[in-house]
Amino acid sequence: MANQDEKHPLADTRGLIDREIPDGVDRRRFLMRAAVGGAAAVMTGCSPSPQEQTAKAVATSGSTPAPAPAPSAPPLAADLNVVQKEKGPVLTTLDEFYKVGPGPSSSHTIGPMRITYDFYQRATKLPADKLAKATKLQVNLFGSLSATGKGHGTERAALAGLVGKEPATVDPKFLDSLRDKPDQVFPVKLGDKSIDVSLKDVIYDATKGEFKHPNTMTVKLLAGNDVLLEQEYYSVGGGFIEWKGYTPPKKNPPKYPFATMKELRGYADANKTTIAKIVLANEMSIAGRSEEEVYAFVDKIINAMVATVKSGLSMPEDDVLPGPIKLHSKAATVYKRAMDDKFQSDRGIGVLSAFALAASEENGRGHLVITAPTGGSAGVMPSLVYGLLEVRKVDRQKVRDGMLAAAAVGYLCKHHATLSAAEGGCQAEIGVASSMAAALTATAFDAPSLVVENAAESALEHHLGMTCDPVAGYVQVPCIERCAFGAVKAWTAYAIASNEIASRHRVDLDETVAALAQTAKDMNNKYKETSEAGLALSVTLC
Ligand code: SF4
Repeated sequence: MANQDEKHPLADTRGLIDREIPDGVDRRRFLMRAAVGGAAAVMTGCSPSPQEQTAKAVATSGSTPAPAPAPSAPPLAADLNVVQKEKGPVLTTLDEFYKVGPGPSSSHTIGPMRITYDFYQRATKLPADKLAKATKLQVNLFGSLSATGKGHGTERAALAGLVGKEPATVDPKFLDSLRDKPDQVFPVKLGDKSIDVSLKDVIYDATKGEFKHPNTMTVKLLAGNDVLLEQEYYSVGGGFIEWKGYTPPKKNPPKYPFATMKELRGYADANKTTIAKIVLANEMSIAGRSEEEVYAFVDKIINAMVATVKSGLSMPEDDVLPGPIKLHSKAATVYKRAMDDKFQSDRGIGVLSAFALAASEENGRGHLVITAPTGGSAGVMPSLVYGLLEVRKVDRQKVRDGMLAAAAVGYLCKHHATLSAAEGGCQAEIGVASSMAAALTATAFDAPSLVVENAAESALEHHLGMTCDPVAGYVQVPCIERCAFGAVKAWTAYAIASNEIASRHRVDLDETVAALAQTAKDMNNKYKETSEAGLALSVTLC
């Protein structure tokens, strides 16, 4: 698909700006002026020489006073969910975080499928005499799962889990068949008993109420009206699940216990190593895996990401995504037309967007995607992984390390804020994905740890406040294009972070993650994956 042609839009564009910083000139201001000059040249088609750009940038830069010391951040609201939870060091592992599963939503598809699969496993352990009485399995969806579950295929995912399918291995065609033939009945074997289940056993229940989490569901095994087993579950975002009385599993202690980016970077800098290597050491100690095993898993995820972009780009240009929006696929068209653009920088933005559209459209089709951190944001990280590996031909080991640094950013957002749009709006999905992708890109280009943090911070900062309002409850509008914007913002964040004076970056990642948590709390509930406001109201479906 993409080749190494040096004219490729993502090929090295450093020649656009002369980066020799003249003596006595403030570097940051110089680079900014030079970049603005370059951008203007691209937009107008008038391209002065690098020397002319340099001279203009020198003339307009000057010196910049050092920034004032940062005041301490105000404390988060005491009733914020993440504040109430006891916090220790980050203990999340890569296989918990990067999950392969069917789209379109990690919280509304992968989570519910994991939940019903978990319940099925629990039910199989009941005593034989109890199982002998069982007559029915029933799933009730509440809150956001009920409000937008139809558009996400939540009932199909929940039924698939009940019949023993797991997200990473389920054939998306099985889920398609449930959509095309909704009356199918499946026998579920529990001991000697076989219970028939169908989509009718998944009930869209109350959308509003005092739920412990906006994505709440219950699963029951019944004997007539008697409950043999019941469990209340929460799909807490990114495919992670919890249940009533949940306590996190005991894990081995991390080699480098960190709960903030400041601590993480502190370890990296003190050990003269990278953020990625600290994450690797922790993964090995927490999960008890060898370095080879960790990288083998990362390779599996990288390969899956590349595959999802390729698959999306290969779809016919006139493909129409499932659902009432009748949204036409656009990834292949955007890719083709972007490649024809006569301006190299426009081609770069166009094809990066096309890669993100491709993976995100795969999510919209319900095909297999990778949570990074969620299904809705599943176009962002793959687009950068694909661009770095397949277009820029960056060494695979650097991309592997980028995946580790990106995971650390996602872990911190989960640890101190949320990855759930039902809790925090789209800033928690695309915002976090973009931040991760910025860390990936900076790491892949060997940026120092501070630049990696600055890039991640910048990408997250410029998604704060972004709401979630999927039209008709389908993860298509605005989600698919939003992945493209998340990818381009990640690249922009890397471009700024690698060109500014890193020590002058004014906001640190921990402060922005705190702002993400507080903004999530303050956001009007209508904008948290309910499809009751914003675009979901203003867009008319014919
Ligand atoms: S608007 Fe954002 S958060 Fe909401 S479903 Fe779409 S991608 Fe996910």
